Amino acid sequence: MIWDQLTTLELSKVARNIPVILTMAATEQHGKHLPLATDRLIGEHFANELHKVIPSKVLVLPSISIGCSSHHMDFSGTLTISHDTFIRQVEDIVRSVMQHGFKNIILLNSHGGNQAVGQVLVEKLGYENPTTNIIMVNWWKLASNALFALNESGKGGVGHAGEFETSLMLLIAPHLVHADNIEKGKHTDTFSWSEGDMLRGAKVSYYRSTKEMTTNGVFGSPEYGSIEKGKHISKWVVDDLKKIIDDILVMEA
Ligand SMILES: [Zn+2]
Repeated sequence: MIWDQLTTLELSKVARNIPVILTMAATEQHGKHLPLATDRLIGEHFANELHKVIPSKVLVLPSISIGCSSHHMDFSGTLTISHDTFIRQVEDIVRSVMQHGFKNIILLNSHGGNQAVGQVLVEKLGYENPTTNIIMVNWWKLASNALFALNESGKGGVGHAGEFETSLMLLIAPHLVHADNIEKGKHTDTFSWSEGDMLRGAKVSYYRSTKEMTTNGVFGSPEYGSIEKGKHISKWVVDDLKKIIDDILVMEA
């Protein structure tokens, strides 16, 4: 079920143990080949595909389309909100959902810049609401074992707007992928201890603006992107999301 497609009467009759999904995305530069909406389209794709498989077992909220993207502000079109605003927005939405009686909330994150605040939200909301299950999913971590095997471009290849995000966008919105503008992005960092990508977290956290690190806004290898890889990623992530839903429903039964 899609939250805002229901009438208030229909929503009042939905079982209160149903897992409610809030996609946390971003509107930010993704190189010269992908649109600013990339993270939102990817997050909503996973939520919608999950909904297709189990339409009566999930309730999908309208997504948060602007996230914490200050590090991308040197690139035209990026929108950002502060960490405080992000936390308050998610908290208020989750509290509204809980006020209607729902007990299982999944924060489906599709943007790296929302990870740290997402973790704060899990700890804060979880502590304050002991009878509610608060779960955050970062899609690239969910299916990471399978994704490792899929990664052709090697270490550093699956960063921002790289091999995986480009593959997903070729599947989800091929008309928005500018194939002629695909350029290899940065794979390595000045320091080995600050190197990392979606599968391999860096050893330390070191803040720099994206422009200081990559002139074209890309980390990794979008040239390795393919629709076939996009299909694999989509299936694995949706399968794993479904397992979480099944476990929650068993736990709640
Ligand atoms: Zn992205």
